[in-house]
Amino acid sequence: MKDIHEELKEVVSSLKGHLIYQRDVLLAEGIPIAKREQEARSEKREAINQSRNQGLSPFSTPPNPLFVKEGVPKAGALSELRTPNSQLLAELRAEIGDCQICKLGKTRTNLVFGVGNPDAKIVFVGEGPGRDEDLQGEPFVGRAGQLLTDIITKGMKMKREDVYICNVVKCRPPENRNPEPDEMEACEPFLVKQLEIIKPKIIVALGTFAAKTLLKTELPISKLRGKFHDYKGIKVMPTFHPSYLLRNPEAKKAVWEDIKMVLAEMGEK
Ligand code: URA
Repeated sequence: MKDIHEELKEVVSSLKGHLIYQRDVLLAEGIPIAKREQEARSEKREAINQSRNQGLSPFSTPPNPLFVKEGVPKAGALSELRTPNSQLLAELRAEIGDCQICKLGKTRTNLVFGVGNPDAKIVFVGEGPGRDEDLQGEPFVGRAGQLLTDIITKGMKMKREDVYICNVVKCRPPENRNPEPDEMEACEPFLVKQLEIIKPKIIVALGTFAAKTLLKTELPISKLRGKFHDYKGIKVMPTFHPSYLLRNPEAKKAVWEDIKMVLAEMGEK
């Protein structure tokens, strides 16, 4: 039986052998041991300094580009990840395609989806396309449209491109008749999605049909206008339709009162 000294000698010599083997491997790679150790130390020091400069603990996981410090999101980090409204609206338009859900699909020339700023703070909702809109594929481009453009540019001192404009029904009712309940019902999900995407601060409901659709009320526009109502947490100002103003210019004063309330609300952040 070996005595304790013999056993210790064997352990020491095996350790020596292991160290010599490791040194030989490193030398074979052409890296002197001392230099290799020095490099490893300075790499470690540099990494620690870098994390300190970024305000991170040297022991944290690699910095996430969305965070300034651990747990503190960079300003606008989430919007960088969000799909832009322009894309969401384009996707919705593509989804609607050559819609034939209601009977207006058969008689229209163009489906009139909507136009304007996808991130608008104000959305104007009209009734449905007329003849000019049906031909051009853009809402409010005829005589009533010119009056709406004047309200936006001359009255509100904004550009048409700053706001978003759309209608309750996206296809022209023949002979400019009123949209029928089944047509409004078929088209409503598209308006709902447009508003969900844009999330405006204020909706201006132009005329009875827009107000009825958004507010689910049978009250006439004359009773609804002049005060804000609520649509899913968004403020709604019902007002007279521009076509009504063309026939009743004396109602322009009331519309201007409504628009001034909209402007005041916009000014309050
Ligand atoms: N009237 C509307 O309600 N919408 C239009 O786009 C044009 C006229």
